[in-house]
Amino acid sequence: MKKHNFNAGPSILPRIAVENTAKAVLDLNGIGLSLLEISHRSKDFQAILDETMGLFKELLNIPAGYQIIFLGGGASTQFCMIPYNFLNKKAAYLETGVWAQKAIKEAKFFGEVNVVASSSDKNFNNIPKNFTIPADADYFHITTNNTIYGSEIHEDMDCPVPLIADMSSDILSRPVDVSKYSLIYGGAQKNLGPAGVTFVIIKEDLLTRVERKIPTMLNYATHLKEPSLYNTPPVFAIYTCMETLRWIKGLGGVKVVQDMNIRKANLLYDAIDNSKMFVGTVEKDSRSLMNICFVMKEQYKDKEDAFMEFSKTKGMLGIKGHRSVGGFRASTYNALPLESVKALVDAMQEFESNNA
Ligand SMILES: *Cc1c(COP(=O)(O)O)cnc(C)c1O
Repeated sequence: MKKHNFNAGPSILPRIAVENTAKAVLDLNGIGLSLLEISHRSKDFQAILDETMGLFKELLNIPAGYQIIFLGGGASTQFCMIPYNFLNKKAAYLETGVWAQKAIKEAKFFGEVNVVASSSDKNFNNIPKNFTIPADADYFHITTNNTIYGSEIHEDMDCPVPLIADMSSDILSRPVDVSKYSLIYGGAQKNLGPAGVTFVIIKEDLLTRVERKIPTMLNYATHLKEPSLYNTPPVFAIYTCMETLRWIKGLGGVKVVQDMNIRKANLLYDAIDNSKMFVGTVEKDSRSLMNICFVMKEQYKDKEDAFMEFSKTKGMLGIKGHRSVGGFRASTYNALPLESVKALVDAMQEFESNNA
């Protein structure tokens, strides 16, 4: 049976990226060594790193004055590195979900944190509007896509202070005006590559704002001086990211990918909105194109487990909602084909016609 991979992360990757990585693990470009056996100081790896950085810059149209680096430690280490490097007195944060809360928790180790707005009172079912960013904040931190709750900030906002964004789960899903941000970061394992590598797009002039001493590995300056090569970078994971970036370029770039994502999301959201049984959990203007959360209406709540079992017989994988929302979550990342969304919609409609 055909499997439909809706996992939230690590998640589906382009098939061609997986196949080419498998080949490179056996023999990288015919050099007689595995990708896993080469030195990170070799010209073979330098070529991989250069191409990955180059494609990232090209596809996201990253302007001059920005660098892209690849680190270990996951997005979660960035929650700490950001305030370590940039929080002098006060930072502003938008609280839109669990990942934002984790970022806030780390910032509090370093200074005052001003949470400008929160949707926690509504179980994070929306992106707050009408908030004021204090002009004296060292930076403002947002999570553009809330992977667990399924809400997303779709526009690049104007911000009076340096804007920092966790784009772990929507990077490369749409064109981004990078010039509006001072730093963009994320774990690769949602939309870009395997677990193990973190990307950081950083504006060079953001550096050295704080007096405190910063341990070498947690200092962005270390990683900018020798881009991604101060210590051994995650060679394997970077390789797969390069393959994913090549795939995006082959499709025609992030605008093409965005159009595909909109089609997929519209198909599923329309099915949810036209259903007697299912209902979306997020306010319409805050809905994510990457993680689509829905539950069963009150009168059908007792059928959720039955639908979960039914969906498995149709090849659906990873659609169980996060425990903090319940119900279902379909992650529709870049690499998920439209046919998988169609298959899920068919399964929902078949179940509904048998049970509602
Ligand atoms: C998954 C995720 C994280 C955590 O990433 P790690 O690489 O596991 O540390 C942080 N932020 C968002 C938005 C995520 O989706």
